Amino acid sequence: MELIQSIFTRMNFFNLQTEIAPRVLATDLDGTLIPLSDCAENRVDLETLKDGLSRDGKEIVFSTGRHFESVLEAISEFRLPRPNWLICDVGASVYCAGEGGHTLYEPYLNHLTEKVGGVTREQVVEAVSELTELESQGPESQGSFKVSYFSKASRVDELVAVIEQILADRDLPFSVIGSVDPFNNNGLIDLLPAGVSKAYALKWLATHADFQPEEVVFAGDSGNDYAALVAGFRSIAVGNADPSLVRRVQNELADKGASSLFYAAKARATSGVLEGCRHFGLLA
Ligand SMILES: [Mg+2]
Repeated sequence: MELIQSIFTRMNFFNLQTEIAPRVLATDLDGTLIPLSDCAENRVDLETLKDGLSRDGKEIVFSTGRHFESVLEAISEFRLPRPNWLICDVGASVYCAGEGGHTLYEPYLNHLTEKVGGVTREQVVEAVSELTELESQGPESQGSFKVSYFSKASRVDELVAVIEQILADRDLPFSVIGSVDPFNNNGLIDLLPAGVSKAYALKWLATHADFQPEEVVFAGDSGNDYAALVAGFRSIAVGNADPSLVRRVQNELADKGASSLFYAAKARATSGVLEGCRHFGLLA
């Protein structure tokens, strides 16, 4: 019971013990680690970051909304470092590096299975099957704990409200997140176990994998990074992050008396990650 209590406390917020040196870079990909197309400096700094982390034996975690195959494509396309851990699907799946590549990390799968009380994705799919406006996204966007649809952009808000009601009526422990893809104006609707996010998965990993929360430096740039930026890890917002996000993070951490945990980098994307790693002493 005591152990459960202590893990519960740590999963919510922990007091960083600043005498523990950082050893793990956990980073968002798009807009953060991946070089911006118009920024040659980002590509140079990616090499510096890669060399430094590997020379010093630091661990790397990617934390992204991308699905697993899409992360592997990004690693090869942008020559990203090979991560020790991958948090994909906005926190609905975790993969671990092994000799033959990355494999699904079963302890997290088991954790989510337990968290949803055995409710399966099929039950979730069935629950919303009468909503003919939902069009299933491709198999690469689906997961054991992620059910994803397209819709008309103009219908997202209404559909989210309808789905919330269905989930509540059927007592299904899932939540729905609606957004609009700015590149093609598609409505995107994701159903995930209630409470699961990138921050949730990272906090879980930092209390169950081979590193401690106190050893993590997290880097991000946008709204779905907010929770991880204020979770109690040392954290970096890159220079291209939304200024209102940076202010919210600063206010939240100031309220907790933890302002020193956060660094707002001046440089954009990859270069901002490098700048922040140096600030926190993750890299010399
Ligand atoms: Mg991003």
